[in-house]
Amino acid sequence: MNFADSEIVASILSDDFEITSQEKEADLILVNTCSIRDNAEQRVFNRMKELIGLKKSNKNLKVGLIGCMAERLQEELLNTMKVDLVVGPDAYRNLPDMLRNHTPNVNVILSEVETYENISPIRYDSNGISAFVSIMRGCNNFCSYCVVPYTRGRERSRNITSILDEIRDLFQKGYREVTLLGQNVNSYNFEGKNFAYLIQKVAEINPLLRVRFATSHPKDLSDELLQVMTKYNNICKSIHLPAQSGSSTNLKRMNRKYTREWYLDRVESIRKHIPDCAISTDIIAGFCGETEEEHKETLSLMQEVGYEYAFMFKYSMREGTYAHKHLIDNIAENIKTRRLEEIITLQQQLSLQSNQKDIGKTFEVLIEGTSKRSQVHLFGRNSQNKVVIFPKGNLQKGDYVQVKITSCSAATLFGDIV
Ligand code: SAH
Ligand code: SF4
Repeated sequence: MNFADSEIVASILSDDFEITSQEKEADLILVNTCSIRDNAEQRVFNRMKELIGLKKSNKNLKVGLIGCMAERLQEELLNTMKVDLVVGPDAYRNLPDMLRNHTPNVNVILSEVETYENISPIRYDSNGISAFVSIMRGCNNFCSYCVVPYTRGRERSRNITSILDEIRDLFQKGYREVTLLGQNVNSYNFEGKNFAYLIQKVAEINPLLRVRFATSHPKDLSDELLQVMTKYNNICKSIHLPAQSGSSTNLKRMNRKYTREWYLDRVESIRKHIPDCAISTDIIAGFCGETEEEHKETLSLMQEVGYEYAFMFKYSMREGTYAHKHLIDNIAENIKTRRLEEIITLQQQLSLQSNQKDIGKTFEVLIEGTSKRSQVHLFGRNSQNKVVIFPKGNLQKGDYVQVKITSCSAATLFGDIV
């Protein structure tokens, strides 16, 4: 999400600034920040110290902090660090004015309507093949552990015409894959048009354009969407469906609004509609009050689903959330660590098993570039979002190629062009 937002910020500032990849050359450095967990914030504080240090050699340099930490910490940041600007996620249109007039240097006003719909992102750090397209902003779900509804404000969906125009333009420029982004894409609703309708329209732009999406909240994953996915070959067979926990009692404390049984029913529906669909997840270890039994239920859910991939985190208490105010962060650090390790170890086995099942199969791969480890190999992804590496041949990025899988690791498939 921040990657996509930075492309919007680059566009908003493009009349006044040129982009450089050299921080020593810059007269303005904006750090786009995430507040989701404490360690994300600590990394930013360290980086900010380094960047503010560059002011010694460049008196004109301005350093700003934008995004969720700006929203969460607001003026406090001006007092604790020598930052010049603090700008929240809905105030980016004000950046040029703030920079020209030097004041005010804090704008953290949240909006109920801002979607940056008419801003054409500058894809300054892109491979020219795949792009993120933001389709909605904010979140109304208030999971009890999560700071996003406070830092990004109310959920709002972007105008469907502006989304489709942006994607058509990307396709014409040579892009071959878009990922539609939102905190809960399944609740997309623009003037009565839902996500199933939107993704169908995107898929119809061109069969050579792949479509992905993230994230799907399990409570809103509809059979209607799954049916649309079966109709279009270019909608990728991969669903990120964060479970967070496998225990209904823990899910209740998390305010996720579904049970283990509901979640498994959604997984069953995915398997029924799209048998070769990859399913990935997010898991939180050691949430408030999590018992050993509840933790085991998470492990058994992971096993039952057999996730292709997972993002796994230790619970990190965020100020202002329901959990901060009403629950107790009472799982000792060493227990959180041990539970997270068990989750990660299990996921590595599951990823490896899933990849081993692919040996001998042939997949259509969209080539994204040269493999980082070898100049004579290319890499790309299959529909299931798995990275595939294979010998170069006469191909280039943006091409589709059929690759037969010959071996694998837990993270990667290796194969030959057929
Ligand atoms: N909107 C998405 C998630 C966005 S945040 C969804 O609901 O699926 C990405 C992930 O960060 C979450 O899925 C969750 O696993 C993790 N996360 C959020 N708040 C957290 C916290 N306080 N501590 C640890 N992990 C957290
Ligand atoms: Fe956070 Fe829940 Fe919203 Fe996801 S759905 S952003 S976890 S509050």
